[in-house]
Amino acid sequence: MNRYTTLDIDGYEEVIRCDNRKVGFTAWIAIHNSNRGPALGGCRVWHYENEQAALTDVLRLSKGMTYKNALARLPLGGGKSVVHTELNSVNRVALFEEIGNFVESLDGRYITAEDVNSTLQDMAAVKRRTDYVATVGASGNPSPFTAYGVYCAIRASVRHKLKRKRLDELTIAIQGVGETGGRLAQLLKRDNCRIIVADINEDHIHRLREKVDFELVEPDEIYQVSCDIFAPCALGGILNSRTIPLLLCRIVAGSANNQLLTEEDGERLHRRDILYAPDYAANAGGVINISCEIGQRYDEHKAMQLTAAIEKTLLEIYRLAGEQKLPTNVVANALAEDLFGLNATVY
Ligand code: NAD
Repeated sequence: MNRYTTLDIDGYEEVIRCDNRKVGFTAWIAIHNSNRGPALGGCRVWHYENEQAALTDVLRLSKGMTYKNALARLPLGGGKSVVHTELNSVNRVALFEEIGNFVESLDGRYITAEDVNSTLQDMAAVKRRTDYVATVGASGNPSPFTAYGVYCAIRASVRHKLKRKRLDELTIAIQGVGETGGRLAQLLKRDNCRIIVADINEDHIHRLREKVDFELVEPDEIYQVSCDIFAPCALGGILNSRTIPLLLCRIVAGSANNQLLTEEDGERLHRRDILYAPDYAANAGGVINISCEIGQRYDEHKAMQLTAAIEKTLLEIYRLAGEQKLPTNVVANALAEDLFGLNATVY
């Protein structure tokens, strides 16, 4: 049996805690803002250090979803769920069915999807208890859409910074060639770009080698390669006071979430005259694709078209940043806040 407790947290519309002793988990759903529509955000399963860490994560992630969904102009707000448990020691089907009950208890104000450690199969269990689950199969793997969106962000960045419409012969250094980075490399190769890659996973390097040509560098060297564009497609926090002085690129645009270690790192890039494509604007293709399953019959062509609009969004951010002489991350935040109805101070 789920036991629900409502938490009152400043700046959040609704935060609910759910305890289930029988299955063995504690979960939280946070709805940060629903001005644009029901709050969409995935269900993350993790064994956190403690409950406070889980709560901090759901608050941070749900807020991030509000900004991402707003900037992508989706009719959706921002929310997230996290489940604090040890996946190996619980009945997985029972766990996700109870998560389905938890989601259902919010009556459609929150819509869930897969995330770290939750799969399409898990979402099928959620779906047995609620209709408020987005990824049940039709839209499939979000990564091709995320990669295509990053490609569109790179096109916008090149157009703005290098005053070029085509990408041919540009050099792109990609950190991480997994689900998104590997696909991005293939898209860029079609445009005749030169690709430099670093990854810590030999299999991923090998898999990409079978598809396209690229130069390989050691993971630590990727920050220092001379290139036009650096594309972080692996980890968060990699743009920081240590790495930014090393960069020899003119543009940073990639799929990784939370690339800036701190907001000041956006200012650092700005001072170095490196154009930064705000990560949550550039990597929105996956969520745009998922949104096409909500309340409509999924249409892949429409999902691609909506993802392509990332190019326009980035150009808008760059224009405003240029006019106001501000770092692009600051402008993206202000634009998103305007779009979800918070009083923007800058834009
Ligand atoms: P992935 O796990 O498939 O790929 C990540 C790659 O990075 C792997 O090949 C891994 O070996 C490599 N890597 C890890 N540490 C590294 C290091 N120190 N140096 C070089 N390479 C390293 O993940 P993904 O789905 O491609 O996601 C990548 C990033 O994009 C993550 O931050 C993810 O949160 C974000 N993102 C992904 C999607 C999506 O649709 N998959 C959507 C939005 C954001």
